Amino acid sequence: MAVYTLPDLPYDYAALEPAISGEILELHHAKHHAAYVKGANDTLEQLAETRDKGQFGGLVGLEKTFAFNLSGHVLHSIFWQNLSGDGGDRPDGALGEAIAVSFGSFEAFAGQLTTATTGVQGSGWGVLGYEPLARRLIIEQVYDHHGNVGQGTIPLLVFDTWEHAYYLQYRNVRPDYVARLWDIVNWADVAARYAAALSGPHS
Ligand code: MN
Repeated sequence: MAVYTLPDLPYDYAALEPAISGEILELHHAKHHAAYVKGANDTLEQLAETRDKGQFGGLVGLEKTFAFNLSGHVLHSIFWQNLSGDGGDRPDGALGEAIAVSFGSFEAFAGQLTTATTGVQGSGWGVLGYEPLARRLIIEQVYDHHGNVGQGTIPLLVFDTWEHAYYLQYRNVRPDYVARLWDIVNWADVAARYAAALSGPHS
């Protein structure tokens, strides 16, 4: 039985137009995200076989494959919720204050996250996360789905900058895609994730 399942989108495939075309969103969700879900489930089965046989020769590769697919599933599941056709503007309340405290200003935060996202070498993500050891917000530049990550950091807002996320619409102009992402950020979702992170365990 499958451990992981592909979540439905909280909106239809055309809901994020014109920032993200319906064609991109359908492929991204129904093909790419689905592949990470399948990959995570398949790898769990292969790990079980490995244990059953007691043959751990391929374990290193399986662990890498599992981390890649599981992290892809996690990040895409957050990404869909982070976006909305009614999004944009900027957060107020506790999240807005935390951004000002952690980064100096919203503009400085936006500049760092935009640059982290557009500057990924190859495939990856720009991430706003809550770091529970220092109890502050940080920005991470995540490679693939799982590289360059500070352990324990809770992702709150994630920007997918893999070519599959924008190439059909923006071609090679990644900065234009990232600029449009800001217009569809669902800050209510990000604020809810921040509130949940604050109430979670701290080291
Ligand atoms: Mn993606």
